[in-house]
Amino acid sequence: MNEFKELMTEIDRFTEERDWDQFHNPKDLAVALSIEASELMELYLWKKPEEANIGKVKEELADVFNYAFLIASKYQLDVPAIVREKMAENARKYPVEKAKGVATKYDEL
Ligand SMILES: [Mg+2]
Repeated sequence: MNEFKELMTEIDRFTEERDWDQFHNPKDLAVALSIEASELMELYLWKKPEEANIGKVKEELADVFNYAFLIASKYQLDVPAIVREKMAENARKYPVEKAKGVATKYDEL
């Protein structure tokens, strides 16, 4: 078993041991993911990026990953596969020759 699958199993086990699956419908997991993303953003609010507490950034980022992986688990999605699919799509939208060094959205490249 690879390390990523082991991690997904650990996350599922954590939920199972606490009987929290009953609360983990995809809608509430998506809401929780958004809240955790906001907690991550709050660490940067009114600060320069380098002033954020990296220890807290790690914690909030881990919360974001946790909820994202729980949603993926709900739908039995292969996380590395769907991320790679999306990267391939992004590579088509943002060809290097047009996108290199510019932050323009793909429909305006
Ligand atoms: Mg949090």
